[in-house]
Amino acid sequence: MRNPEPSLTVRAYAKINWTLELLGRRADGYHEVRTILQNISLCDRITVTTTAGPDVIVQCPDPRVPAGPANLCHRAACLLQQAAAVPAGARIRLQKGIPVGAGLGGGSSDAAATLAALNRIWGLHWPLEQLTALAAQLGADVPFFLIGGTAVGTGRGDRIQALPGCPGIPLLLLEAPFELSTAAVYGQVQGFRADAGERTARLEELLRASRDRQGIASLLINDLEEPACRLRPELRTRLAELRQAQVLAAGMSGSGPTLFALLPEAAPPAAFSSLPSAAGWRLRWAWTVDRGWEPDPP
Ligand code: ATP
Repeated sequence: MRNPEPSLTVRAYAKINWTLELLGRRADGYHEVRTILQNISLCDRITVTTTAGPDVIVQCPDPRVPAGPANLCHRAACLLQQAAAVPAGARIRLQKGIPVGAGLGGGSSDAAATLAALNRIWGLHWPLEQLTALAAQLGADVPFFLIGGTAVGTGRGDRIQALPGCPGIPLLLLEAPFELSTAAVYGQVQGFRADAGERTARLEELLRASRDRQGIASLLINDLEEPACRLRPELRTRLAELRQAQVLAAGMSGSGPTLFALLPEAAPPAAFSSLPSAAGWRLRWAWTVDRGWEPDPP
């Protein structure tokens, strides 16, 4: 009997940004950032199967996600296939759990998970540094997702240094009924704070010493919050409501529109049921997670 094709299912976790500070504009058009990224429990599931090749096929039942070459899983697979001269192909089944265009890094996480999974099932044994160089070509957030957990990002956000993890912090996510384009939000940036980068440095120092939730809460910042609120003023209203609730602190993830709050203790979302007073907003319960992809049980 023929052996089944090697197949692997991995989780691709979402992220939030504890901090996201803009230092200025670079010659290449990107912004120079200081950010602390944090994996959270919300995840996509990706099943990667080796095929006789050389085709790469991505299947995703979610109509908001492109199924063909525009999908970041497809781009990641082709890039690795080419760079490592792999004769095999791959079939990639993507099950979305992370909302699309939400500032939670779903596509970037899928790309990193695809690289890591194919590295295993194609038997490449590439070290992390080599995969990271490919990851940076796919997007500024992709290198973070290869390392995962808690990390500080500099440059475009793609130069990543791991920090001690802080898993298990309960969070409330408030998902908007609309997407925000990252480019459109950056387009609304009007200037840079003279002290940009300081909060990130202070939080980095704190995280190296402790997992103090109150300390983390006191240092949240996102320089894209104002630009995003200019595009969608209802974000300002939702943030104010969140901040008035029984939370340690609230902020926006990445370029938005997803908002998050740090909770003092695990509490069921029902305790906050009065929050999303506007139609279409969705409350979701999540928590911080540490680095690493564990394969799903067969
Ligand atoms: P970013 O801030 O990096 O743009 P995001 O979390 O705001 O990330 P994503 O969910 O990654 O947004 O989706 C951004 C766009 O990328 C979507 O409009 C979608 O068409 C495209 N895309 C490509 N591949 C994927 C994927 N695997 N999952 C989700 N979206 C994808």
